[in-house]
Amino acid sequence: MLNIVIFGAPGSGKGTQSARIVEKYGLTHISTGDVLRAEMKKGSELGIIAKQYIDQGQLIPDDLMIHILGEVLDKAANPQGVIFDGFPRTIPQAEALKTLLAERGQEVAVMLDLEVPEELLMTRLINRGKESGRADDNEETIQKRLQVYHTQSAPLIDWYKKEGKHRLIKGYGELEQIAADLFEAIDHS
Ligand code: ATP
Ligand code: MG
Repeated sequence: MLNIVIFGAPGSGKGTQSARIVEKYGLTHISTGDVLRAEMKKGSELGIIAKQYIDQGQLIPDDLMIHILGEVLDKAANPQGVIFDGFPRTIPQAEALKTLLAERGQEVAVMLDLEVPEELLMTRLINRGKESGRADDNEETIQKRLQVYHTQSAPLIDWYKKEGKHRLIKGYGELEQIAADLFEAIDHS
């Protein structure tokens, strides 16, 4: 059982690299951003609530997000393991994930931290916004999301360092090189 957390600022390439990891290790991909966007598309009650936060570049409140993750995890039963993309984003979420996995006799093997310079994140997200049509990929909301990342999510780096699970990965340059570095970190976890 291999449980991985892929971490990084908005636009750091978590989704892109998760696909590579899923292909190589046969994991289930849980992207909380994708889960929330699917709910928004359906126009469900959860989607309507999520949209209010996402459009402002804010995080969905922890209690709600942790509840959603628990439900998704129950459905994801995969003996190979899971890659968590976009969760945890706060320390309470990291603590909740630890508990949820421990209840199942599991744990996070490694936290892969994709490091990308801020100017590059900005250009990547603005370009993505042109194609994705994502309402949160506009300059003003991107700035807000980066700020939220620094204040609420970046403290997870130290949290996972204390757990002995943090691995810093250079998240720019050749896609193949990034994937190779991620595989190496996973294989040595
Ligand atoms: P990337 O481009 O690296 O995939 P991202 O930040 O652009 O990352 P998503 O992970 O898709 O995008 O998340 C989009 C939005 O969904 C976030 O800005 C936030 O509002 C909400 N969200 C996703 N995951 C969480 C979470 N774990 N806790 C709270 N809110 C979340
Ligand atoms: Mg994503």
